[in-house]
Amino acid sequence: MSFKDLQLNRPLLRAIAESGYNEPTLVQEKTIPFVLEGRDVITSAQTGTGKTAAFALPILQLFFDNQDAPKRGKKIKALIISPTRELAIQIEDNFKKYSKYTNLRSTVIFGGASIEPQIEVLKKGVDILIATPGRLLDLHKQDIVNLDFVETLVLDEADLMLDMGFIDDVKKIERLCPDEKQVLLFSATMPFKVEQLANTILKNPERIEVSPTSSAAKSVSQLLFYVPKPKKIELCLHLLRNTIKGNMLIFRRTKYGVEKLEQTLLKNGYKVESFHGDKTQSDRQAALNQFKNGEANILIATDVAARGIDIDDLDAVINFDIPNIPETYVHRIGRTGRAGKSGMSYSFCSADEKTYIKSIQQLIQKEIAIEEEHPYLLDPKAKPEVHKKQGGSKHKKGRKSEASKKKKKRWY
Ligand code: ADP
Ligand code: MG
Repeated sequence: MSFKDLQLNRPLLRAIAESGYNEPTLVQEKTIPFVLEGRDVITSAQTGTGKTAAFALPILQLFFDNQDAPKRGKKIKALIISPTRELAIQIEDNFKKYSKYTNLRSTVIFGGASIEPQIEVLKKGVDILIATPGRLLDLHKQDIVNLDFVETLVLDEADLMLDMGFIDDVKKIERLCPDEKQVLLFSATMPFKVEQLANTILKNPERIEVSPTSSAAKSVSQLLFYVPKPKKIELCLHLLRNTIKGNMLIFRRTKYGVEKLEQTLLKNGYKVESFHGDKTQSDRQAALNQFKNGEANILIATDVAARGIDIDDLDAVINFDIPNIPETYVHRIGRTGRAGKSGMSYSFCSADEKTYIKSIQQLIQKEIAIEEEHPYLLDPKAKPEVHKKQGGSKHKKGRKSEASKKKKKRWY
């Protein structure tokens, strides 16, 4: 199928051609016609399947006909909610690219950056607004943003949005828009809470699900290394010296783990950047840019921080920690081996992570090949290491005070 078959107009087709896209992705092929019909749509498909253009292109087409309103008379007709600043910026980049030959105006607003320039652009009038929830509500309260004319509302990366605790904000935003509107929901996964949200705010939606998340990319060669937990760093250095070359993404479960590994790799002379939820907006953008323009070839990230971020062309993915949710494994390794290229994944499994490997293999319905040729082999009979804390039983629950629980930082 071609983009022409999707009934997109010529200004859009021209911009698509300039983006270097030859044909729509499966997600786009299935989603675009329903959006053009004005239907509510739920699309779930893993990261990198082209979900942004699946809503951006039909939205631009839908509003192409009313684009000639004088600038100051422009009303926000499409509102796209995105959980993070990076993702919001990426979406805006997409809209800018595809709307090149239209007079539709878009802008992006997000927190953690000064508000005045955003207000300036909004006052000039836009047709399409991309926003993170907090900043949107803030500017709405200040009467800078008027949502009374929204005709299409998009919730992008809905699973991440809920993981980040934005459920109430999202519901509030939905209520601030007119009752009669088209709602589109995009998500990499469809956990129960996303279904629940969809049930409350979408009307008779068309459901599109592409490539069930259990199908691990066929073009990815997966290797499993059994290794004692304290030896993982050495194994990582060993593989970087001898085996793994090119651009790689290393996943760790916690931001503490990310930073520790980054320090070690930097000390060993590697060009490393890292990405996690506690970094400032400008640090994250800088890290991403360094990686994208090749100044660093290693990026270390937590799952939530890396989710949705468009990094392609990876040669390898390293699971420094094994994810406890099997779908996460599939998402991680799906970041390599894209676009017909072959990719590699390396998973480091310590004794306490063996059960995770079991459920991953159940999900992908295949055994991951075990690499035994390395200097830090785990004794197959090794038991998980238990970190004994003085004076307390590890089974004792509720030893944390409510106050200390509240202080707990976000882990992503
Ligand atoms: P998702 O939101 O599903 O994670 P994105 O919308 O970020 O995916 O797209 C992933 C990458 O695919 C981007 O680099 C985008 O430019 C590219 N892309 C999107 N549509 C096409 C297409 N039809 N042909 C080729 N590349 C595409
Ligand atoms: Mg996306």
